[in-house]
Amino acid sequence: MNIRVRFAPSPTGYLHVGNARTAILNWIFARHEKGALILRIEDTDFERSTRAFETGICEDLRWLGLDWDEGPDRDGDFGPYRQSERLDLYQEYAQKLLKAGKAFRCYCTPEEIEARNKAKLGQPDQGKYDGHCLHLTDEQKRAYEAEGRKPVIRFHVPEGTIHFQDVLKGDIAFEGENISDFIILRSDGVATYNFAVVVDDALMKISHVIRGDDHLSNTPKQVLLFQALNFSVPTFVHIPMILGPDRSKLSKRHGMTSVRMYREKGYLPEAIVNYLSLLSWSSESGDEILSLERLVKEFDFRRMSRSAAIFDSEKLNWMNGWYIRNAPLERIVALGLPFLEKAGYDVSDRNFVTQVIDIARGYVDYLAQLPEIAKIFFQEKVSPESEEAAEILALESSQKVFSAFLQKLDAKEKLDAETFKRIMKEIQKETGVKGKWLWMPVRVALTGQVHGPELPRVVVLLGKEKCQKFLEQALAKNR
Ligand code: GLU
Repeated sequence: MNIRVRFAPSPTGYLHVGNARTAILNWIFARHEKGALILRIEDTDFERSTRAFETGICEDLRWLGLDWDEGPDRDGDFGPYRQSERLDLYQEYAQKLLKAGKAFRCYCTPEEIEARNKAKLGQPDQGKYDGHCLHLTDEQKRAYEAEGRKPVIRFHVPEGTIHFQDVLKGDIAFEGENISDFIILRSDGVATYNFAVVVDDALMKISHVIRGDDHLSNTPKQVLLFQALNFSVPTFVHIPMILGPDRSKLSKRHGMTSVRMYREKGYLPEAIVNYLSLLSWSSESGDEILSLERLVKEFDFRRMSRSAAIFDSEKLNWMNGWYIRNAPLERIVALGLPFLEKAGYDVSDRNFVTQVIDIARGYVDYLAQLPEIAKIFFQEKVSPESEEAAEILALESSQKVFSAFLQKLDAKEKLDAETFKRIMKEIQKETGVKGKWLWMPVRVALTGQVHGPELPRVVVLLGKEKCQKFLEQALAKNR
């Protein structure tokens, strides 16, 4: 069997992390099976869809490291790949259903349907259609058309149970009576989601429909349409939703939900892919850091969880930090530099900036945090950043340490890590100040902070002159 899967975004916004996860799973499955991934743009909601969002989604997918074998920008044998360019096809298949008596023209306005439902059921029920136009005579149809009414086309849902298999959820059954005759073509002739998806999945020879389980309630309608059109029904894989920490569906309320936002904050694509792929799946090895290659090799739907996954931004941050620390330094410099630039730092000395980023990347979850960590390397004046820091500076023992340090520094030609450690040992011997009371004041004098990167590395990168300047500034008589 030819494995063909599709990712079918609606270009009505940037790529949501939930959709990104669907795209990733489709991609991994396609590559694992040596099948094809089709990118299909579902842009029949003309009011909300834009080309700019389509481009944005494609950019974000590529940024994640995903590619596709067929799509709007990659012609294949089953195009076009934008639903807006396939409207004639949907018309053609709707006509087939009309001819076969499996669909009918409906002239009712939504208001009329609602009013009838209200009269019959005692309450409005927008979703329900009462079959009013199912058996119109030709004369009745002509009368409606003379009134200027433009019909929709509805699919006539047969009675009986609709069964389908889902790889993750098993045998699923829906009762036909619970689904009213639904619209497949709107009055403007444009196909609805459920109809377009079926025509496309069938004509594009999709073997597996892998999508979020929020679509599960659409699937019986789609199965009915596949059957009515004599298409073979694809295999369904409905993957569990991603929920926020409060167990509601992940949405804007939960903060960053688009891939673009993560990209702009300096997350690495491999961290996002790795994290999202682990949301409801785990490698048999138990390893959590997994490259795309390993994901492709080890992926197996049988190891996929059936329950919803909770989006844990702390874990994502941990993973992203890991990738930042383990990526080639030059890449992190290239990605991190714009953040320092935007913070207004002088980044003209590439060698210096490289060393700054090399130190600072040890302490960030994402690259937008670099300026905060790196600021100690760009300041000309150090001021204690907290009360605790100010108190430490003022201690008599600290002042003794600063004087001794300055004296020793004077005699040294250059300040490398070894020299610094030696100086600290000597000061300890001479002043009797040790441990925290020796190291902390030096850190505060040089950075203004009580916590921060490894002190010897900080000292070396600041260099002798700046260290001298800051220690002078820290002396009480100069404050
Ligand atoms: N355009 C739909 C969506 O973005 C695709 C659903 C499907 O995969 O069938 O939710």
